Amino acid sequence: MNPADHTTSQRYGFASAIVRRLRSAGYQALFAGGCVRDQLLGRIPKDYDVATSASPEQVMNLLGRQRTIPVGAAFGVVMVPGSTAAEGAVEVATFRSDGQYIDGRRPTSVRFCSPIEDAQRRDFTINGMFFDPLENTVLDYVGGQQDLQQQVVRAIGDPLARFHEDKLRLLRAVRFTATFGFRLDPATEQAICSTGHQITQVSVERIAQEMRRMLEHPERALACRLLQQTGLLPAILPELQGLDGSAGSDFTTRLSILQALSVESAEAAWAILLQPLFQPQQADAKRRLSLIHALLRRLKMSNQEIEDIGWLTAHRAALHNLAARPLHDIKPLLHHSCSRLLLAINDAAAHAAGTVSDDSNWARRFLSTQTPDQLNPPPLISGHDVAAAGIPPGPKMRLLLQQIRNAQLDEIIGTHATALQFLQQLITTTNP
Ligand code: ATP
Ligand code: MG
Repeated sequence: MNPADHTTSQRYGFASAIVRRLRSAGYQALFAGGCVRDQLLGRIPKDYDVATSASPEQVMNLLGRQRTIPVGAAFGVVMVPGSTAAEGAVEVATFRSDGQYIDGRRPTSVRFCSPIEDAQRRDFTINGMFFDPLENTVLDYVGGQQDLQQQVVRAIGDPLARFHEDKLRLLRAVRFTATFGFRLDPATEQAICSTGHQITQVSVERIAQEMRRMLEHPERALACRLLQQTGLLPAILPELQGLDGSAGSDFTTRLSILQALSVESAEAAWAILLQPLFQPQQADAKRRLSLIHALLRRLKMSNQEIEDIGWLTAHRAALHNLAARPLHDIKPLLHHSCSRLLLAINDAAAHAAGTVSDDSNWARRFLSTQTPDQLNPPPLISGHDVAAAGIPPGPKMRLLLQQIRNAQLDEIIGTHATALQFLQQLITTTNP
């Protein structure tokens, strides 16, 4: 797509208006980084970044203090929210050169400079270009256009030094390579391999965020293979190492399943990736799950993510031979909020093995015959009813409630009255 094709988008319009405003006040101003790359790739940029010779003070004075937010004043970044959601928000950053890096992530100081120098501090050549929306021209000081054409992710400058400065770039390199279907420039790849183990210097939140973006993308298998090859995966998930049998054959299988997964769900991909941790030889299911929970908590994932990934891993085999199982097993399984993902994982595993899953197909047919109320009907009786029948709260009450629920799901009982009768029967048979 020609960059000009983006002129119709409101985000593009808003960002261009900011460039025009800065330029008419005598400053240099250009689109910079990822949005230029995305435009050249024919993708709609998520957001537009503007780079300018104006200082943050000058940007705020010119665009209005009420309309601007200094988000990274030390780095010279000012956020300009649009007046509507469709306009998005534009980050306006002063051309800068980064000083010494500390802690493998952040520069100690920045110095305002020319666009040519600003391009040098960016991570990869494909991310290091500028675009002039007024002249409709690309300004490329780093060979980004050629690398984009040749589909190469290449660090700007000395790759080893660039990864030493900021370890987050290691994951960004793999993400761009996998999600664009590009290849890594060999020197860049080598530098990643020799620095990969230092990824632990990056906060777990940022690691998890990058992992999420890679795992929800259809090219997640490519991302995982690259992460493994470069030593990043062993550093990020040491818990998985040594669990893959000889020559990592299980890992290869999991890559095929990841490749075949047809939903854009990082949770489903995590469940596939972490499956070996749910070790079948470990009899206690709670203990098996606790290993997975501990790993996800270490990555500071949300409670919902932890619960969903844990459930998917623990239920991986639950669809097996589904048609032969009682309704009280089938219904709760298929009613679960993650059941759609479980079916997708099952389909992907079958696809990777060169078959189709009869279990998934059966489950879909079954689901199409069920109303929500059939799948998860309101309970027929409560703990009060069981207490009224003389059973105090405790394990026995819980067991009785479960047995009655099962009978309801099995469609043996369907009314409050029949449930109470059934309760009496259960009490007499267990207390003759
Ligand atoms: P995406 O938004 O799709 O993740 P992006 O390249 O736009 O990709 P951003 O995080 O939005 O990524 O950053 C915008 C630009 O800032 C990048 O294109 C790059 O030029 C520069 N940049 C971002 N992160 C780094 C980094 N860690 N080191 C050097 N430059 C970076
Ligand atoms: Mg971006």
